[in-house]
Amino acid sequence: MKKPIHLYRNNIEKCSQILQNKFKENPKLSGEKSLYFYNVSLLENRLNHLREVFTSNNVLHAAAIKTNNIPEVLSHIVNLGYGLEAASFEEVLLAKTAGCPNEKIIFDSPVKTRKEIQTCDQEYPGMYLNANCFAELERLKETNNLNIGIRINPLVDIKAPDIFNVSNNRSKFGIPISEKKKIIFFALNTNNISGLHVHAGSEIGNIKGHIEAIGVVYDLAKEINHVQKDKIRFIDIGGGFPANTKKGKQEGLDTFVKELINRCPSIFNDFKIMTEYGRFIHTHNSFVVSQVEYVLDHTDPNIILTHVGGDLFVREIYSSHPPFHEISILNEKGQVKEGKQQEYDIGGPLCFTGDFLKKNISLPKVEEKDLVIIADTGSNSISMWSGHCSREKIKVIIFSEINNINQTG
Ligand SMILES: *Cc1c(COP(=O)(O)O)cnc(C)c1O
Repeated sequence: MKKPIHLYRNNIEKCSQILQNKFKENPKLSGEKSLYFYNVSLLENRLNHLREVFTSNNVLHAAAIKTNNIPEVLSHIVNLGYGLEAASFEEVLLAKTAGCPNEKIIFDSPVKTRKEIQTCDQEYPGMYLNANCFAELERLKETNNLNIGIRINPLVDIKAPDIFNVSNNRSKFGIPISEKKKIIFFALNTNNISGLHVHAGSEIGNIKGHIEAIGVVYDLAKEINHVQKDKIRFIDIGGGFPANTKKGKQEGLDTFVKELINRCPSIFNDFKIMTEYGRFIHTHNSFVVSQVEYVLDHTDPNIILTHVGGDLFVREIYSSHPPFHEISILNEKGQVKEGKQQEYDIGGPLCFTGDFLKKNISLPKVEEKDLVIIADTGSNSISMWSGHCSREKIKVIIFSEINNINQTG
């Protein structure tokens, strides 16, 4: 039997080695205020894992563009044969620029305009589009060339953090399953509807709830097809699989797929399946370094001021559910600093007093020109870049390196 694909993760030590090599290759880099590194080999590893655990060959894995929208990263995904999920018309254009064929693009915005729908229908025949509400389904009656799915809100408790939970009765996403009669009526009476979509939320903490959310939609698809054979041809199961940013191992989707088949036995035989993973694909592929500009010694604890904060890390700074990152300190050359630890607060560059990456973190003595390193920055960071204070966007370095990756966990 083939050895299963190992899910790689780099730790700070390994990122520091990569950084030292990059500084040697290109000494100019060490003068940059901050750098965003993205490793496409790790990306490939994650995508290979998806291809491996979803054994059916009628599956399209479409990476969520909103999670990471770097053009080279998108082209890389497309060149490997995967698809892209667009959360806006602008992201559809990004997918096209990345060379994505129409039949591998999924368009999911909740506010698609009439004009956008018409353009997609005319310019991108074969594209997938999931409708978010009944009014959108009405607009879509005018189209001829799109594969249309209906986004369903399964109303299942998935135990996701509130700000990422879209599966409750006040959600702006999807038509609630309580409207089942009307959904079935629309599906059966609209020629170009051929699929159902569910994305129940992000960072789903409960695999049973996640599976049940898909199960609700699977049952609905079966029910519709019972009335009209082969009416529903695809089920888009969305994203939502969590990425672990604490120390330790990243769970693969092996168990998830097994449980999915237990709940929905013929899902891979009866339907084309789409996935739209974001965090799971991107989180671990990136790290950020940022120069220490000042250390304020008149505060207790001392405050490190550095060049990334609420601009790159919008969720971390502004949200009620800030993602966790390992953070450490390197010297000018990129080596991990050691020595007696003391407490610091790490402040970002914005003229806004909430702009702190971390408070009360124990670090070895920090000085001007040291580097703050932040791990697991691949998701919802650079794609959320905020222009507050009008600072220059962080420099991006795309690289490829799988050799000698430390296997954590
Ligand atoms: C955000 C989003 C995704 C990706 O979510 P992850 O939790 O990062 O996997 C997928 N599909 C839709 C519709 C989304 O809004």
